[in-house]
Amino acid sequence: MSTSVTSIPCPDVVSLDAILPEEPLLMMGAGPVPIPAAVAKANTIVINHLGATMAKVIGQVKEMARYVFQTRSKWVLGVAGPGSAAMEMAISNLAWSGTRVLSIKNGFFSARMAEMAQRCGADVAVLEVPDGAVASLDDVSAALARERPEIVTIVQGETSNTVWNHQLKDIAALAKAAGALVVVDAVCTLSTMPLEMDAWGIDAVITGGQKGLSSIPGVSLIAFSDAAWQRVKTRERVGAHWCLDASLAENFWHNAGYHYTAPVSGVLALHEALRLVCAETLEKRFARHLKCSLALQAGISALGLALYAPEPCRLNSVVGIQMPDGFSPNDVCGHISRHHQVEISGSFGLPIVRIGQMGEQCREHNLFRTLHALGRTMVDLGVGVDLPAGVAALEQSLSGSARAR
Ligand SMILES: *Cc1c(COP(=O)(O)O)cnc(C)c1O
Repeated sequence: MSTSVTSIPCPDVVSLDAILPEEPLLMMGAGPVPIPAAVAKANTIVINHLGATMAKVIGQVKEMARYVFQTRSKWVLGVAGPGSAAMEMAISNLAWSGTRVLSIKNGFFSARMAEMAQRCGADVAVLEVPDGAVASLDDVSAALARERPEIVTIVQGETSNTVWNHQLKDIAALAKAAGALVVVDAVCTLSTMPLEMDAWGIDAVITGGQKGLSSIPGVSLIAFSDAAWQRVKTRERVGAHWCLDASLAENFWHNAGYHYTAPVSGVLALHEALRLVCAETLEKRFARHLKCSLALQAGISALGLALYAPEPCRLNSVVGIQMPDGFSPNDVCGHISRHHQVEISGSFGLPIVRIGQMGEQCREHNLFRTLHALGRTMVDLGVGVDLPAGVAALEQSLSGSARAR
């Protein structure tokens, strides 16, 4: 009599070929974004995570990251995990029971930093900023005086409602003058617009792979200033997070030792993404992002659709488009994906769809395909948009023949 060694039956599944579309969809949402061929190739390679090759890779990743963060700080580390893991490394290493934290909340992602700080036991004050606005310097000054925070958290670009904290530099200066360490979420904005960690006095910057950097999701970067690192190293009690303990991560990222097995393929992919940023230079990359985003915005406006964020605080890295009354973002995202093989995003209950302008998304051919697909989708769904006018405005803006606004 044969006895079965497995009591749970093997599932009946299909291969990825049967699941994935024959041609990949064009990823024009709020991330992940398309990756360059060099990044994709690097992501197929597995090497020894503690060997000499990896050591060389790690050294270059840190060096290139310092350029992208615009810092001379030694304390750059990679993080196995999403942008939120880098965020949690920043918060959980700098805040603990009783730490006074001021979180400037513009929306969904900046709220996450406040929540993480609360979970660490910190004493968190939230400065609520209305949707579609940025924190005023007066409000920040008043909150700093009232709360006397040891840590201030702020997002550079609030991806959820497409608001850009364009006064980040001034807010960081105010926080610094009040004696606080400044933690900045630059997940969607890093390498798409200026951010000068050292010159602006920022103490921790976090980013993910899958947005501005055009790498894969799941490997992220963080930089601490000397002052922030000092706080990390002199805290009295160790934190609850073992994987995200920056001192343990130092073993791997600075001392060629073991912490956990690094996601080697993802680190190689990140290396290539950073190398392409360096090859392009930040100046040219910022200019490409600005040009493409403004052209896309001009095209969307000429279609007859409204941009969600008011112009002074409109984020260029992710463009929010107001849906006409009665049209659900989900229907639009579903239609454009099924019929045009273009992926765009809704946004956590807001009446908008979002088109990303991060990394490889900012290519002229991607803009034409996406604007056309959006215009056709709206027409198919019964919204009267002027598709030829939209495409013409996109072309005029890209070729520099648009009339000055
Ligand atoms: C995407 C995003 C995050 C979260 O990144 P994950 O990789 O999804 O964890 C945090 N902040 C901002 C501003 C983002 O755009």
